Amino acid sequence: MTIALESVWQKIIEKINAEESGPSKMFMGSIKPDKLENNILTMVTVNEFCRDFVNKRYEKVINQILKEFDPVLNYEIIVKAGKTVNKPSQPSLPTLSEPVAPVTKTPSSKYDSMFNSKYTFDSFVVGKSNQFAYAVCQGVTKNPGVLHNPVFIYGGVGLGKTHLIQAIGHEIIKNDPKAKIAYLSSESFTNEFIDSLREKKTDDFRKKYRKIDLLLIDDVQFFAKKEQTQEEFFHTFNELFQQKKQIVLTSDTSPDKIPDVDERLASRFAMGVVVDIQPPDLETRTAILMNCAKKSMVDVPEDVIMYIAQGVTSNIRALEGAFSSVLAYAGVMNKPINKDLVDQVLKDVLRETAGGKISISWIIKRVAEFYDITEAEMVGKRRSADLVLPRQVAMRLCQIFTEASLNQIGEKFGGRDHTTVMHACDKVNKMIKNDKNFAEEFERIKRFVDPNK
Ligand code: ADP
Ligand code: MG
Repeated sequence: MTIALESVWQKIIEKINAEESGPSKMFMGSIKPDKLENNILTMVTVNEFCRDFVNKRYEKVINQILKEFDPVLNYEIIVKAGKTVNKPSQPSLPTLSEPVAPVTKTPSSKYDSMFNSKYTFDSFVVGKSNQFAYAVCQGVTKNPGVLHNPVFIYGGVGLGKTHLIQAIGHEIIKNDPKAKIAYLSSESFTNEFIDSLREKKTDDFRKKYRKIDLLLIDDVQFFAKKEQTQEEFFHTFNELFQQKKQIVLTSDTSPDKIPDVDERLASRFAMGVVVDIQPPDLETRTAILMNCAKKSMVDVPEDVIMYIAQGVTSNIRALEGAFSSVLAYAGVMNKPINKDLVDQVLKDVLRETAGGKISISWIIKRVAEFYDITEAEMVGKRRSADLVLPRQVAMRLCQIFTEASLNQIGEKFGGRDHTTVMHACDKVNKMIKNDKNFAEEFERIKRFVDPNK
């Protein structure tokens, strides 16, 4: 079966046009389909920012459409200087004169696919807010299992927990390529355990996790309420601990505050070193952006860096996101990078945090960020459980934080009916009342959404 490049491309554009509006849609305008060969759709864009932006934002959408044509289809986006569909054809950003390697790569070792190559100690900017956590993690790699065990890192979203825990993995592998490392989230641990129960392979599961040298578990708060998994993890933990194997855990709260985790387990978590990561101060935020600017090889004026660092205070993920949006926008629109441009691109973030007023689009953005879904998914039509809850939470927050009517809220959520919004708000209220964990999560999201907190 031959699939026409044009029809695939047409579908992608249609879908994105339907779900998006405003500047983000523009980035698609800077991408051009090139060929569809060997089951790979190749697209070309002008610079790395556009590529990264589109990858980050539209990966799921594009893959979904490709799979509709044929499940074996994949895509890649390559950067070629000066090639773009839209005017201006020459972006003002310096672009690499040679095409760079495609983003899709085949992992050379199993750890390549396990760890993000960006998350190393070298690329971690140290400031007051994270220096203790950084030092402890470095200590772990020098003397695994001996100095600090276990290490428990906690802090809010986007503050660098995953970055640090993966940096440990990178470093240990560098020092000892044969080291057996398990890096996974508590959710994956849970799922794997449940699968092993179902397939009657718990022995294999046990053997696997009790024989490793380094156990890295990200986001242990998701062990909440999974009693049987907690029990299993408790034994894994004890076994490895006794063998003096290093264990590193991350969470969004301190061990004693993780809701619905068995006390025995929580006290094990706190047995070694517990470190927190705080939101970055202005100095650290500036240093992080300087780093991003250096890596991007784009000349970003210092006052612009300061301006973004002052405006985006919540966390580092948001800071990086804001920065790359500004660069991408400048690249696509062929505009100089200055404060006006920042205002234009980040008006949601900057203006609204400054004025203390919260808009519906801001809430959608933040809640999407919190749940790690895209804004398009938030307001889109799909009704899978992982999208429905964030959507309902966001609707309820719109009711709390804005003066918009149910109709107006529904309108912003992809033209939904006011009864849908009403139902969502009721449901969230009921959950808050009946589910203590959820009530706490909701409070966290509220703080995350409210820039004045
Ligand atoms: P968390 O796991 O705490 O939610 P992440 O580790 O995913 O946060 O960090 C979010 C983003 O911010 C990542 O891209 C990460 O590389 C970056 N980041 C976080 N802290 C730092 C830092 N100190 N220096 C450089 N980048 C950082
Ligand atoms: Mg994380």
